[in-house]
Parts: sequence; structure tokens; C-alpha cells
Amino acid sequence: MNRVSPARLATSLFTTSFATRPTVAASAPGRVNLIGEHTDYNGGPVLPVALNRRTAIAARAAARWAFVSTTDDGVHHLDIEAPMRQAWTDYLVGVVRELRVLRAAPPGAEMAVASNLPIGAGLSSSAALTVAAAKALSLLAGKRLSPAALAEVAFRAEYHQVGVRCGRMDQTIAAHGQRGLAILFETAAGTLQPVPLPGRLWIMETGVSHRLTGGALNDRRRECEEALAFCREWRPGLGYLAQLTLDDLPEVERRLPPPLVPRVRHVVTETVRTRRAAQALAAADLATLGRLLVEGHESLQRDYESTVPEADLLVASALDHGAYGARLTGAGWGGAVVVLAPPDREARIVAEVGSDFHKRYRRMPATWNTRASRGVRRETIPG
Ligand code: ADP
Ligand code: MG
Repeated sequence: MNRVSPARLATSLFTTSFATRPTVAASAPGRVNLIGEHTDYNGGPVLPVALNRRTAIAARAAARWAFVSTTDDGVHHLDIEAPMRQAWTDYLVGVVRELRVLRAAPPGAEMAVASNLPIGAGLSSSAALTVAAAKALSLLAGKRLSPAALAEVAFRAEYHQVGVRCGRMDQTIAAHGQRGLAILFETAAGTLQPVPLPGRLWIMETGVSHRLTGGALNDRRRECEEALAFCREWRPGLGYLAQLTLDDLPEVERRLPPPLVPRVRHVVTETVRTRRAAQALAAADLATLGRLLVEGHESLQRDYESTVPEADLLVASALDHGAYGARLTGAGWGGAVVVLAPPDREARIVAEVGSDFHKRYRRMPATWNTRASRGVRRETIPG
């Protein structure tokens, strides 16, 4: 990992790109979702943790809009009203459009982006980008938006402007994350319940980028909407799939087209697992938490069909070597695995898992650890 902070990198990129100093800087973290996968857009709970890796934005008000990122060459001068370009800058354009609705955008700005998050690895670099941008731009406009307002702007930018059928988990944790705490977010009720997470989590990246198969999430989302429509024929008041219980599953099997049944089963069982996982974490019962993570992974494998063989290998190997549990985290079709291991053996376990992965794929998986970290914040501009 690059040891220079993202805020420092963003500031120096800003200075070289725009030949002046930024006036504000802000950053937001990526997240690892402990459990609660594909439940956020089905009205269920999620249990994310803000990462120790972040995306920072350095910015200055200007007469026009200009964006630059360390991931990309050159400065992009953009018209906010013009059609989206199917490029990373769409996320920033989306944030500007949504801030304008709140009268919380400056008339124009120059912005430089830097991140030490892996991009497209299921660790929510997109929400880190949009939440940090919403914070930086609203500061330039002289507005202090609450974490909830920043999360909503970022969600609307990604969902309505960029067109990713995401739920609200990523933006919510990027805005509300706190040191030492996982957050149980009940997406239907909108409640946030902090749960202490004292130890470290390990992240092992599959190296498979879900950008290559980006449409898969939108397909699953459509399947869930179809399933909900079928369920409403016998449960007219049903608001979300996550309101179904385990007792409803036999009826789901009888009534729904067979391909939709496992999708619903995943959402219903994952909802139960996620609430149990929050209880286990609150009781510091890591063995139970680990078992729930593995059951969650198996459900993604069998019922949601969103895993990849690289992730399956990492999970199986982590269990073989004595981890409490592991699972694919994030939307899937690539991305990263989160490993929960006994603190006295964690470094050895992930080393052995890396070696198993190397035997099969002839490359090492990028591996690092994180504690639960802070959400969005203003940064002082490094000198
Ligand atoms: P994830 O959020 O899991 O990392 P997404 O596909 O949701 O994956 O978002 C990744 C996209 O977000 C990238 O393809 C890019 O368009 C944008 N993005 C994220 N971080 C940055 C960054 N630092 N600079 C430029 N674009 C970024
Ligand atoms: Mg994302």
C-alpha cells in the first residue's frame, strides 16, 4: 500500500494539474461488508465496516468544471448538462447534479481525486468517490450537509445519474462509519445500530474485476423485482423481499418461476443470518459470526450465483487453515474476500491461504488488513 495519504496525493495532483492550491479537501472510506449481501436493495439488513483506505478529493471553486484522477491521464473539462460519457467522471457529474437540487453546489470547481482503495474490487470505491465529492463540493458552496444528506446525494448520483441499480449500503457506511464500530443498517427502517468491532479484518482480493461483468448486478436486481411482483399476488401488502420469513419459503417454491426461487431464498436466509451476525458480534462470539459468514458465502454460491471460483478457493482455504470464517464481500462476480481469523494466528492463516491461491492461479492475491475506521471527513490541506 502506498504510504502517502490520499489527501496528500490529491493535493499534489491538484497543484500540478491546475497550477494553483486547492481550498478544500475531503475524504471518505471504502467499506467491507461483513455480511448482508444483496439485502440492501431488498429492504433487509447489512453489516458494513468503513475501511482504513480512502478516496480523497482536493478542490477549488472555479468558473467551470474540471476533473482529474490519479487513475486516469489528463484533465477533463465537462459540461454538467451534457449526456453522461460512460466514464468515471459520470460519478462526479452525478454528484454535482444532485447537489444542485439542494442548492449545495458551487458554480463550478476544479477537483483532483486520489485513492488507496482498489477500484472495482467490491470495496466500494464508487461510494468513497461520490461521498468525498459531495463533502468537498458542499464545503465549497458554504453548506454543511449532515452525513445522512451526503449519503443521499451520493446514492442518488450513483443510482439515478450513473444508472447503477445499487442499494444504499455503500454510501451510508462511507458517510456514517466510525472507528472501532461495524454498523447494522436496517435498510427498510433506515436505522443505524453501531456494533463494536475491536479486532482486525483481513481482505484478500481475487484480482477479478467485476467491471468486466458489470451488468450482472442489474440483472439480479431485475430478478428480485420480478420475484417481488410474483410474491405480491399472494401477499398484496408485501413491501420488500426481506419481509418474507423462512416459513414463507415453501410457498415461494410453489408459486414462483423456478429460476427466481433461489434468489428469494438467498435474500430471506441472508436477512436472518445478518441479524444473527450482529448479535454474535455484539456478544464477541467470533466463532458463531464466522460460521454465519461461511453460510452466507455458500448462499451466494448456490442461490445468488454471484461468486467466482477464485473467491470460493479463498474461502475454503481460509477455513482449512483455521479461520473463523470468510466470505465474498461486495456485489460479487469478482472482488474481494473478507477473512475473520483468531487474532493470534491471523497472519499465518492468510499467508497459507495466499500460498494455496498461488498454487492454483500462479499469482498471489493482494492481502491486507483493516480496523473499523471513520466515515467522511474534511481534511486539512497538507502543506
Ligand atoms: P467498487 O465500488 O466496488 O469499487 P464500482 O464498479 O461500483 O466498484 O465502482 C468503480 C468505478 O468508480 C470505477 O470504474 C470508476 O468509474 C469509479 N471510481 C472509483 N474510484 C475512482 C477514482 N479514485 N478515480 C476515478 N474513478 C473512480
Ligand atoms: Mg461501487
